[in-house]
Amino acid sequence: MVSAMETAVNPSVRSAVRKYFKNIYQLFYSILEGMAVTFSYLFRRPITIQYPYKLDKPMDEIIPDRFRGILGVDLRYCIACRLCQTTCPIACIAIDLERNPETKERFITRFDIDISKCMFCGLCVEVCSTGTLHHSKIFDGTSRHVENLVLEFVNTPVRPFIKPKSIEDIPVDRSGAITRNKLKDFFDLPKFRLTDEA
Ligand code: SF4
Ligand code: SF4
Repeated sequence: MVSAMETAVNPSVRSAVRKYFKNIYQLFYSILEGMAVTFSYLFRRPITIQYPYKLDKPMDEIIPDRFRGILGVDLRYCIACRLCQTTCPIACIAIDLERNPETKERFITRFDIDISKCMFCGLCVEVCSTGTLHHSKIFDGTSRHVENLVLEFVNTPVRPFIKPKSIEDIPVDRSGAITRNKLKDFFDLPKFRLTDEA
């Protein structure tokens, strides 16, 4: 005959068993909880953009208008005031002007922006009164050489723009077409041969 002493379960064993089953319960509960969150995503609209391979619409339309991308210069509207150059706190912008000794006309002979130094603060864009200088929506400029990151916007000397009384109608292109072409020039045709690299 089994005595009462033998049938009584030791309290410490009972507590260990209870803890064991509680752990199992918590394990399954946390798995279910996690899977419920995962499962809910099956019914949500995906927000992931598989850049650059699958885009629902052009990147220009996805990126907000106030995005500060690589700078662009539409020289058709530059009045050569050089405010952008003097405002830039880290001297990214270099503008050269030359005067025709006979006609006394001024020409912009250089308008370079070193985007390797640019911190996209937007100060130069703020001071440009004609909207010549603007942030494009381009963010994916890369180069094997830092020297290639100096964008040269002047190919042939440009006559400064005569600023009209109202500048509201100046059609500044912010899509980045000018910048994209410059990046193409500089990145597709590197100034440095691969053999020059250290
Ligand atoms: S965005 Fe800022 S750092 Fe870049 S060129 Fe303009 S002023 Fe200079
Ligand atoms: S880009 Fe704008 S601020 Fe810079 S020189 Fe031309 S007009 Fe002046």
